[in-house]
Amino acid sequence: MELKIQPDNENIIRELCSSGRIPHTVIIEGSDRDERDSAALLLASGAVCRENERPCLCCTACHKVMENHHPDVFLPEPSKNLKSGILSLKDLRDSYLSQMSVKPNEAGCKVYVFRDADKLLREDAQNALLKTIEEPPQDLLFIFTAESAKSMLLTVRSRARIITLKHSENTDEESERIAEEIVDGIVSNYEYDLLRTLSSLTDKEKLSGALTAFAEKLRQTLGFYSGVNTQDTAVKRMSRKLDRTRVIALVGITNEAVRKLKTNVNLQLLTTWLSSQYRRITWQK
Ligand SMILES: [Zn+2]
Repeated sequence: MELKIQPDNENIIRELCSSGRIPHTVIIEGSDRDERDSAALLLASGAVCRENERPCLCCTACHKVMENHHPDVFLPEPSKNLKSGILSLKDLRDSYLSQMSVKPNEAGCKVYVFRDADKLLREDAQNALLKTIEEPPQDLLFIFTAESAKSMLLTVRSRARIITLKHSENTDEESERIAEEIVDGIVSNYEYDLLRTLSSLTDKEKLSGALTAFAEKLRQTLGFYSGVNTQDTAVKRMSRKLDRTRVIALVGITNEAVRKLKTNVNLQLLTTWLSSQYRRITWQK
């Protein structure tokens, strides 16, 4: 699956992963379904990833999560015999609950991702999960996604960390165009090209949109290394110029810049800083 998540929201998930203390139960609410699902997969990857910078989105474990065949990450689907998008209590018990005490296969923990949990899990199913949520084994992580956490049972909600995603702003054509110019600057042999593109952005909103679109291309580049095909020529150009360590570093700096943009930062200082960081990462030996 291709991740669709804004840097702000990605930062929230990454901070949770890097804190080293992912709560046992997480409810992801807000934004739209695609972004909630992406955030849930990102968190699941963070829980099973083997690299230091988690989730790296490149290692075998991360790749398996994205392809939905990690043996320790479960994405329960609605029961086939029910039309309404509901997982029946019987299927929950037979396919999942009965297996929860079994140790993980290859990761440090087992992850259950209940997407659209408010619709997937009726009251009886949520209640059936409650005992495990109340006394979770060390190696179990529950991730629920829902439009609003309030649609989940209070007893579940009160034991979960609730993560509220900010609403998605559509990346417009201009952001896309500028993101491609940033890519041009990154792959260019002339260091000045990048600074010129970035310093031409004198509007916070515009810069934020462009960096969001650029971050999306960086993530696609990471996916491209792992064999996910793309039609985006900018992504292909970056993959030829940069190795994955550099791309991961670029994601980090881009997200940091988006974070700084929310503060009362001087735009010119920020673009100069960003340009020098990009250059350092791109050209360092
Ligand atoms: Zn990984």
